Amino acid sequence: MFHWDGGLKLTTPDLAIDFRRRQPRAFISHAHADHMARHQYALCTPATAALYHLRLGKRPVRELPYREPVDWGGVRLTTYPAGHCLGSAMLLAEDAGQSLLYSGDFQLRPSLTAEPAELVPADIFVLESTFGSPEYRLPDRDSVVAQFLELVEKTIAGGAAPMVVAYALGKSQEVTRILTGAGFPVVQHGLVYPISQVYEQLGVPLGNYRRWAGQLEPGEVVVVPPGHSVDLKGPVVRFALTGWAQDPRAKYRLKVDHALPLSDHADYDDLFEAVQRVGAKKVYCTHGPESFVDCLRRRGVDAWPLDRPWQARLF
Ligand SMILES: [Zn+2]
Repeated sequence: MFHWDGGLKLTTPDLAIDFRRRQPRAFISHAHADHMARHQYALCTPATAALYHLRLGKRPVRELPYREPVDWGGVRLTTYPAGHCLGSAMLLAEDAGQSLLYSGDFQLRPSLTAEPAELVPADIFVLESTFGSPEYRLPDRDSVVAQFLELVEKTIAGGAAPMVVAYALGKSQEVTRILTGAGFPVVQHGLVYPISQVYEQLGVPLGNYRRWAGQLEPGEVVVVPPGHSVDLKGPVVRFALTGWAQDPRAKYRLKVDHALPLSDHADYDDLFEAVQRVGAKKVYCTHGPESFVDCLRRRGVDAWPLDRPWQARLF
C-alpha cells in the first residue's frame, strides 16, 4: 500500500506524503515548512491550503475537508483533525484490502487554536513520535499556562518587557490567544501577523493583538519567531513555550530566561494512547527516537522505524 522513496509514498496513487522536495502529487498534513514544498499539485485541508498559499504562493490544490472521503487514484482518502495547528490533518487511506492512518504532527490535548485531534481505527498506523522518550511526559496544559501568565505578570510589574519566542505558525497564535484571553494585549512580529490574520479569517479569533510598528506600550507582550527579535528599549525577559523545555538545559539552548513545557506535539504517554486508540496491526514510527519502537514492542505492538534508510528493505 505504501513504500519509501526518500519519504513516505502511497503506492497506487503515487502520492507523496509531507515531502520537503517538489513532487507531482503530494499530501500536505499541515503548513509547517518541514512538511511541504512547491508541489505541482497538492492535497490538503482548506485551512492548510490557505496557509500554504500564504507561505509559498498560490499553487494548484485539491482541498480535502475533514471527514469527507474522496476517491483518488485507486484509494479512498479522508482527513481528520490532528490537533497540532490550524488545518493540521491525519490522513486515512483505504483500498480494497487494508487501511493506513498517517498521523502527521499531532497533539491530543485541547488547544485554543486547533481542532481537537480525532483518531480513527486503521490496519497500519504511521506515527509521528517526536517525544517518544519517557522524560517527555508533559505536565497538564492548564498548570503550564497558569505558570506562564504569572511570570508574564511579574515581568511587567517589574518594569521589563515580556518577549515570547514561538513558531510563526501555530504556537504564536496559541500563545497570543492565551495572553489576550488573560487581558494582556499582544504585539506580533511581521512574520507572525499575516498568519494570525488567516486564522481570524478562518474563524479563530485571537483577541486584542496588532502588528509590531516600532514600539511596545506598557503592559503589552511581544511575540517573535525563533531567530528573530524586535528592537526594545529597556530590560527584556524572554520566554519559550515548547515540549523541549522538559530538558532543564533547554532555556540555555533556546537563549531564553524561561522555557515552559507547552507543546503542540503528543507527549510520551499520549503516543501510547494514540497507538491504543488506532489499534493497528502494524505501527511505523517517524521522527522519534528508535528506542520508542522498542518501548512499543515491549508492550506487544508490532512496531518498526519508518524513516531509517535501512528500513527501505523491509517492505
Ligand atoms: Zn508541525
